[in-house]
Amino acid sequence: DAALRLEAVAKGYNLGTPGEVQVLRGVDLTIAPGETVALVAPSGAGKSTLLHIAGLLDTPDTGRVLIGGQDMTGRGDGARTAVRRGDVGFIYQFHHLLPEFTAAENVILPQLADGAGRAQAGARAAELLERVGLSARADHRPAALSGGEQQRVAFCRALANRPRLLLADEPTGNLDPDTSDRVFDVLMTLVAETGLAALIATHNMGLAARMDRVLRLENGMVVAA
Ligand code: ADP
Ligand code: ADP
Repeated sequence: DAALRLEAVAKGYNLGTPGEVQVLRGVDLTIAPGETVALVAPSGAGKSTLLHIAGLLDTPDTGRVLIGGQDMTGRGDGARTAVRRGDVGFIYQFHHLLPEFTAAENVILPQLADGAGRAQAGARAAELLERVGLSARADHRPAALSGGEQQRVAFCRALANRPRLLLADEPTGNLDPDTSDRVFDVLMTLVAETGLAALIATHNMGLAARMDRVLRLENGMVVAA
């Protein structure tokens, strides 16, 4: 089964005035297990909308979303939340770490929400933080970490529940170019090691070129770059 499949996905926003904003007009997209795909588009083209629909944070007006072969159309909030927590990892441009919790706790909490035991979740967090070079920072809160370190913690959080699909919205867009390159290397290494599928929105063509395929979002449709 495909890690992610979108079939004829359409989405518009009705702003309550004539002239609805039609953002997605029939997106077809299939990502195989282990495949990495870049999504390139100008700001406002609908990347966040597409990623939120793929990550079950939002629903399409029409069309189907399948995750690991499971059709999510018409599924209730409980089923959608379970699949989102267990099968999908999300990385944002800004890390969205919980400021009152340490780096390790930020990686542990989603595992507890997914039913893991405390000891197992702690061991998994320690292992992930070590792989991104942050063992010494495990007990620090986000505010004590640099931007690149915060984003590496966010990668660990996204991978904590061993998702089959990673969705990333400009994952290094908030970092300076040097840090962005280094942090992106860490992300690609993690993705390769875990063999998960990834859909990564980026403006950075250099980074996009390192993925298996590059797609463009144009006029509400996804086309090969
Ligand atoms: P991107 O991530 O490519 O910058 P978005 O998906 O955030 O694009 O937005 C695409 C378009 O949809 C933009 O014109 C944006 O203003 C509009 N949009 C996004 N979210 C909403 C919303 N909740 N209500 C109305 N319009 C929205
Ligand atoms: P943007 O891409 O515009 O910067 P974010 O990526 O921060 O915005 O979030 C986009 C939307 O997704 C917001 O409306 C936010 O409330 C929602 N969102 C973000 N993370 C989660 C989550 N873990 N669960 C549910 N909704 C979320």
